[in-house]
Amino acid sequence: MKELLRTLVDLPGPCGFEQPVIKYLYERLAPIADEIRVNGLGDLIVVKKGAFEGPTLAVSAHSDEVGMIVKKIESSGLIRFEKLGGGDDRMYLSERVFVNSENGQHPGVIGLISAHMTKFDDAKLVRDHRKLYIDVGATDGDEVRAMGIRVGDCITWASSLSDAGSHRVFGHAFDDRAGCCALAWALEHVDFSKVHGTVIGIFSTQEEVGLRGARAAANSLHPDVALAIDTTAVSDTPEPMMDKTLSLGDGAGIKIMDFSLIAAKKVWKFLEQLAEEQNIPHQMEVFLGIGTDGGTLHMDVEGGVPTGVISIPTRYAHSSVEMMDWGDFEASEKLLEAFMLGMRSKEQFAFI
Ligand SMILES: [Zn+2]
Repeated sequence: MKELLRTLVDLPGPCGFEQPVIKYLYERLAPIADEIRVNGLGDLIVVKKGAFEGPTLAVSAHSDEVGMIVKKIESSGLIRFEKLGGGDDRMYLSERVFVNSENGQHPGVIGLISAHMTKFDDAKLVRDHRKLYIDVGATDGDEVRAMGIRVGDCITWASSLSDAGSHRVFGHAFDDRAGCCALAWALEHVDFSKVHGTVIGIFSTQEEVGLRGARAAANSLHPDVALAIDTTAVSDTPEPMMDKTLSLGDGAGIKIMDFSLIAAKKVWKFLEQLAEEQNIPHQMEVFLGIGTDGGTLHMDVEGGVPTGVISIPTRYAHSSVEMMDWGDFEASEKLLEAFMLGMRSKEQFAFI
């Protein structure tokens, strides 16, 4: 599973530029799918039918990552950029990036003033990202264009997946290629001759700019029950706002509430029951700082859908070096498989 995650992380795909990720997953999952298609917004929809009657479950993992986009090529050869998805202006300085143009990936660095210059600067100043620039090593704008770089090219973090210690990994885009990896793995490895109902996997687009892909998918699918599988932010480092309610290494997160969703009680209770029965390490999540595809899946226009979320704990979200505990990741994937195999009827998720 780690090799699949590494492959998914290395594919560039910020919001609106998910084509390489969607194409890879389409080609990988087509042989095992009962139905597979890509909708107008780019969401990959993969249907797997179980052997028995049962509910239709939609599971969404978002294929996009946060990134940037080329806004202007200066005559100096430096590149101005805009954000694709949310990123704190403090996290850009001195980062290595790839500018993804039609003819390939061009390494660059987001410039940081030399240490020798800082005494002439305001040390507390956080520069707006629009004042920052990417240096790809060109002497002027013509050289940048000759490299093949154009306004509108997307920009991604240049880090790959690395092991950290004996049981953790770091790298970029775990949010939410980790969810994509778990969903693809579950679709490939669950024994559907034992499944009651149908599973619709959604690899959604444009989550990081407002759950846009999942909305397009949800409004055409109308499942009986829905899950999102996405990363969440743990609160176990020493900063003052960290309340230690979620910790790296404490297992899969079962969401009860975030700013986009109050999870359906019968869905999160069922996830908790499965985790307890199958000894899957888990932690319950009430965290208002995050939203997921679940926020749009549950508001399906034809009457709403009972929805829950499996959260994969991470540190340093949206940066070039997110960190994840491999045990948490395996627990999250196992819990997703348990849900697919354990569901029996749409009535089990009824509100009353
Ligand atoms: Zn996410």
